[in-house]
Amino acid sequence: MGRIVKIEVSARHVHLSWSDFETLFGNGVELTFEKGLLQPGQFKAGQRVAILGPKGSFDEVAIVGPLREKTQVEISITDAKKLGLNPPIRESGDLKGSEGCKIVGSSGTVELGEGVIVPKRHLHLSFEDASQMRIESGEIVRVKVKTPERSLVFDDVVARVSYDFVEVMHIDTDEANAIGLSGNVFGEIMKKEGEGTDEHMA
Ligand SMILES: [Zn+2]
Repeated sequence: MGRIVKIEVSARHVHLSWSDFETLFGNGVELTFEKGLLQPGQFKAGQRVAILGPKGSFDEVAIVGPLREKTQVEISITDAKKLGLNPPIRESGDLKGSEGCKIVGSSGTVELGEGVIVPKRHLHLSFEDASQMRIESGEIVRVKVKTPERSLVFDDVVARVSYDFVEVMHIDTDEANAIGLSGNVFGEIMKKEGEGTDEHMA
């Protein structure tokens, strides 16, 4: 039996750069705190934006703070189809040559040239978690998920390791629907070779 990890769903959201935030909400406005997220320091902001593509738009899209160097829009493939966009599946921060879109805030608009991605499913691990499981940062693992009607094994799950990460697997809303996710769901981490991640082995 491999190690068990909680599965968390990320709905569509944006991360904003300092300058894009200022363009969207005005000079001197602060990003407000609405709700803390699982990873330390990350929070859902009080403000919302709209995102627009050639075919459609979404209003009331959450902003995840704090502000960062580059604006990044994370959507599902279903969202992308509605917007008429074709974003690549990428890890957070890997934005070169990704899709663009229009972002609208309460006092301005940003034409984003690149920064729209479908987030690659991933596993957050602390250094301690990772060493217990002998998983390296960037390693691809599989996570087996058992639900009443739609159990499956997610392959291509990238392990992201940082000293302060809380252990959790992040999937998007399409992936959550694929397993019929509702309520608390857990998965079993499996090394690619098919080995379990038995902690007693470490
Ligand atoms: Zn994540």
